Amino acid sequence: MNGWIDSHSHLFAKEFDEDIDEVIQRCLQINVKKVILPNIDLMTLDRVKKLSDTYPEICLPTVGLHPCDVKEDFWEVLNKMKTWAYEPKMFIHQKIYAIGETGLDFYWDTTFAEQQKKALKIQIEWAKELRLPIILHTRNSIQETIDIIRDNMDEHLKGVFHCFGGTIEEAQQIIELGSFYLGVDGPLTYKNSKTPAIFQEISLEKILLETDSPFLPPTPHRGKRNESSYLPLIAQKLAEVKNMSLEEVRRVTTENCSKLFGIESI
Ligand SMILES: [Zn+2]
Repeated sequence: MNGWIDSHSHLFAKEFDEDIDEVIQRCLQINVKKVILPNIDLMTLDRVKKLSDTYPEICLPTVGLHPCDVKEDFWEVLNKMKTWAYEPKMFIHQKIYAIGETGLDFYWDTTFAEQQKKALKIQIEWAKELRLPIILHTRNSIQETIDIIRDNMDEHLKGVFHCFGGTIEEAQQIIELGSFYLGVDGPLTYKNSKTPAIFQEISLEKILLETDSPFLPPTPHRGKRNESSYLPLIAQKLAEVKNMSLEEVRRVTTENCSKLFGIESI
């Protein structure tokens, strides 16, 4: 357990088409040993497969439908995706590591709010049946998402509220669920960010590190493409905020991530 894990990174995105090999090499140089690839929609499944098949030691596939891509045809899309989730033999890994990313996003558009909720509930059922963690995206929707998770909680449901940007009260509700983590990424490093005060209060045992590449690059890379090798910059800031050593942050967050996603050795 002597490396880093990026628990949320879209390295399969078009932004990496030109230089993915160098991006992966930079991860290895800095000891980022595993990268979880949260799927977005039907089109990106092939990209997730290709990347995780090419770099199976590093890139770990997931299957799910992002809330911003839930449209009126979501039922049909989920039916196609279900095959990938339930018969993951098409991946070299012969398995997937999570269901996601799913969740609710009411920031841009609420036209499909009801469909988003239905799609989330279906994916919660997959996660429970398959005993897999669920990766949750929330925007202007944390309380609604917490409520849906709480209503559907059983002894198997577990996961992460990725890119957590809520209040202390919301963080407490998530922790009380018992088997859910909070993901922290680049905004922790931004000037005037409210995130450090929140994460100062949250136990390290409940935190996962993530980059959300290619989005949300940490300081000093703001305005550029984000990549998984920047993960230690977020960890460094978390160590300062929590007054801990970088080593302690690495050890505990890597353990958290390994436990949640069932990663045996890194
Ligand atoms: Zn994402």
